[in-house]
Amino acid sequence: MAGSRMRRLRGLEILAYGNQIRCENDSRYLVHSQSRNGWYEIRWSRDRWICQCPDYVKRKMACKHIYAVVCLLALPEILATNTTHLRIRGRKQTQSDESRQIVMTA
Ligand SMILES: [Zn+2]
Repeated sequence: MAGSRMRRLRGLEILAYGNQIRCENDSRYLVHSQSRNGWYEIRWSRDRWICQCPDYVKRKMACKHIYAVVCLLALPEILATNTTHLRIRGRKQTQSDESRQIVMTA
């Protein structure tokens, strides 16, 4: 699997996990580190998102934290195109939900 595709999936995973992203303002977000305690700052600078994590610093390309923020910002549009299939109801977590989470983090 291509590296960028893997990072995109990792970003989705961070987003789906919940409580991992904080918005400071339009051009500044904090994303919780998945490997240690603490937060990485994601900033909009010169027409691109930049991150402080070692992966971004080394490659200068979008990391999983940046993908997490980009996915979050795209959510209203994603929801809008899926609302006909959206079912919101209170329910307990089922066995199949847990299985799906295991698949996602594998
Ligand atoms: Zn990063």
